[in-house]
Amino acid sequence: MKKIGVLTSGGDSPGMNPAIRAVVRKAIFHNVEVYGIYGGYTGLISGNIKKLELGSVGDIIHRGGTMLHTARCPEFKTPEGQQKGIEQLKAHGIEGLVVIGGDGSYRGARALTQQGYPCVGVPGTIDNDIPGTEVTIGFDTALNTVIDALDKIRDTATSHERTFVIEVMGRDAGDLALFAGLAGGAETILIPEEDFDMAEVADRLRKGQERGKKHSIIIVAEGVCSGNDFAKQLKEATNFDTRVSVLGHIQRGGSPTASDRVLASRLGARAVELLIEGKGGRAVGIEKNTLVDYDIVEALERKHRLDLDLVKLSKELSI
Ligand code: ADP
Repeated sequence: MKKIGVLTSGGDSPGMNPAIRAVVRKAIFHNVEVYGIYGGYTGLISGNIKKLELGSVGDIIHRGGTMLHTARCPEFKTPEGQQKGIEQLKAHGIEGLVVIGGDGSYRGARALTQQGYPCVGVPGTIDNDIPGTEVTIGFDTALNTVIDALDKIRDTATSHERTFVIEVMGRDAGDLALFAGLAGGAETILIPEEDFDMAEVADRLRKGQERGKKHSIIIVAEGVCSGNDFAKQLKEATNFDTRVSVLGHIQRGGSPTASDRVLASRLGARAVELLIEGKGGRAVGIEKNTLVDYDIVEALERKHRLDLDLVKLSKELSI
């Protein structure tokens, strides 16, 4: 393979830039030309494609977002849209593609693979919901952003002796909420993987107050319900007053943590190796600190699993 392409797609995540940098530099190291496709699958269909050099990815390792920009492209879900994309790649002489993104972007890469075009998926999302990897690029940075916000909210919660409901992102996955709740010492963590009992939530709040706690923090994953809806339900059921904080898109931004930069560098470089070895149709990941890769079709059939031991631990530590 002498020419490859790289794109970022779907929701952005901090660490996409170091992943792009790794793809570009690893390819050039092996004398392979790299083309950046700007604006995800939309840019692929329209041919927004430019050659990248070593310097094109200079000074981006520490930046959030993605220098290639990203987009959501409904047209790419159709076989016609996918064919247009393949035609653009062929017109530029690009023989393989690295797709950095979440599970929607992986489905796009799977579609290209099923049409005979070699693609490798690199997991980039703050949601940590991609099968075939224990952790995704951006999760650690988003987690640290949530913790930073949570610590600040805790200061004001303590001063005013208030209960706070904090809504965090994660789509249908509870990882961000669970890890943030555990690392931030939340009293209650509500995740979509588990039903919650309002009476139990209220009981925890009461017990905390009885033993003199000055504040309480409840983390609600967006996949459960909105923070405001939960606060309303809690008020109706128990008369508990709360303040709600919706962290929103700050969770997607910021300079990637060291851990995300290292992960992005390893996964991006591995994706290039696979393409050079002629192994398209793969999804790269990390398990037990070792690089792994799976057939992208099989990877998408698996389900990402939340660590249930951590759910248990978070309950034991927040009695
Ligand atoms: P993420 O990659 O963050 O999960 P989306 O779910 O929005 O984000 O997916 C990003 C893009 O991937 C979509 O806008 C679409 O272009 C493409 N995509 C999603 N699902 C499919 C599919 N089933 N087939 C082909 N392309 C898809």
